[in-house]
Amino acid sequence: MQQVINVEELLSTLGITSENKGTSTGIEWLANNSKENVTSYSPVDGKKIASVELCDDKLYNKTIHVAQSAFEKWHLLPAPKRGEIVRQFGNRLREFKEPLGQLVSYEMGKSLQEGYGEVQEMIDICDFAVGLSRQLHGLTMHSERPNHRMYEQWHPLGIVGIISAFNFPVAVWAWNAAIAWVCGNVCIWKPSEKTPLTAIACQKIAADVFKENNLPEGLSNLVIGDYKVGELISHDKRIPLVSATGSTRMGQKVGMAVAERFGKSILELGGNNAMIISENADLNLAIPGIVFGAVGTAGQRCTSTRRVIIHESIYNDVKSRLINAYQQIKIGNPLDATNHMGPLIDKDAVDTYLSALKAIESEGGKFIVEGAVLDFGSGCYVKPCIAEVKPNYQIVCSETFAPILYIMKYKTLDEAIAIQNNVPQGLSSAIMTKDIRESELFLSTQGSDCGIANVNIGTSGAEIGGAFGGEKETGGGRESGSDAWKTYMRRQTNTINWGKDLPLAQGIEFGV
Ligand code: NAD
Repeated sequence: MQQVINVEELLSTLGITSENKGTSTGIEWLANNSKENVTSYSPVDGKKIASVELCDDKLYNKTIHVAQSAFEKWHLLPAPKRGEIVRQFGNRLREFKEPLGQLVSYEMGKSLQEGYGEVQEMIDICDFAVGLSRQLHGLTMHSERPNHRMYEQWHPLGIVGIISAFNFPVAVWAWNAAIAWVCGNVCIWKPSEKTPLTAIACQKIAADVFKENNLPEGLSNLVIGDYKVGELISHDKRIPLVSATGSTRMGQKVGMAVAERFGKSILELGGNNAMIISENADLNLAIPGIVFGAVGTAGQRCTSTRRVIIHESIYNDVKSRLINAYQQIKIGNPLDATNHMGPLIDKDAVDTYLSALKAIESEGGKFIVEGAVLDFGSGCYVKPCIAEVKPNYQIVCSETFAPILYIMKYKTLDEAIAIQNNVPQGLSSAIMTKDIRESELFLSTQGSDCGIANVNIGTSGAEIGGAFGGEKETGGGRESGSDAWKTYMRRQTNTINWGKDLPLAQGIEFGV
């Protein structure tokens, strides 16, 4: 396959060599004596990019000690000063947007535009966090006791653990880290073992900014490893908050481990996102919305459109427009801007895609656009496909992380909403309609049960500013925007008596 970037030059710009250490407290990179490592292969061309030494228990503990002492200094810095550091980090990301976006695309396989978009999200969250650093507000309340003042304030937590998935290899870390830092916390990041190099690049960029500001080691820590390092984090009492992004299976384990030790968790898990296409939809918006939602990132977004619920009166029209649109999709090297869709992350993902195709057929689904594995590149390229299904098929109710789209019919909007909600996941949802009654019903308490509900845009993607996350098996976590920062801090309620008496609340007389 033709190479459209110079990989060697790219890696050297980002400080990545053929063999890398995978544990870092910032300036220092720690060597693993056993040399156990992971190799990162590009799903784009199947070539080995570089290898990374894994973190082990000993290195992990060393990292936590450094993080603890960094926290002792960092949380004493006024929040707006912490914001100033995050501002510099955001500016540094602006400088590195091109190479970092390219590496995201090459290591993960998403299109170059989406790679750049992911780095832009990192920049956007930094801007958001800088403003937030001057707005970590608490409320004041009127005390029922005379000459008393009551208010609440927010304090940092300590170390925030971040476990992230392969599909957003850098943005999810930044969503968490930028907010955690302005709130006065330090971070320890376990990225997906499938995308370790983008994590190393990010850690180097952040470490440089901290170093230039003479800040201590340990504000940003990286521990690359498989699920075992994730388990160290989820069971570690020294980590008061764990933000975990990934599959529902992983989230259940992490959530239970963190809850058992009375820690806090933010769980950002799988989705099974639906779009309702009403008979009042503008199909000029609906069709591209569906196609981008289903095919973007090769169907490997937590918010990817997986189910389309179409009014029976326009079902055949939508079906033929989708078939036509799918014929235009160009699949190939994601670094070539003329391609719409790149590869799946690895061969395991291809196997999962193939077993889903079998399951669809065995449950009675009918393909209107056939799926297949394409015989080029890394062997990870597949055809996006569409199947007509019944909403209650088991395969339809579970998340397959691949470009497989299910279409189904409805008669009434109540029925469509019931179909949409009748899955275990609750991340993103959308309705396409020009009828305000329909859109308002969809957004009402009788409507979508998801964390994200959109009108006349697709299910895929999110903007910094809104709280991001979902309900039910998606985990209930919220991050990035709105008041999601509150989870990264502890609330303290303060009552101050500035009078000369000691009245008790609720009028209680103690009489001593
Ligand atoms: P995954 O669950 O396989 O892995 C995610 C991370 O969890 C990795 O870093 C992995 O090493 C770690 N991990 C796995 N088992 C663990 C355990 N028992 N304890 C601690 N850590 C563990 O997910 P993936 O394949 O990398 O990503 C795809 C999944 O992530 C999809 O289900 C997708 O919907 C979900 N996702 C959700 C969001 C969201 O915001 N809701 C965002 C991105 C991805």
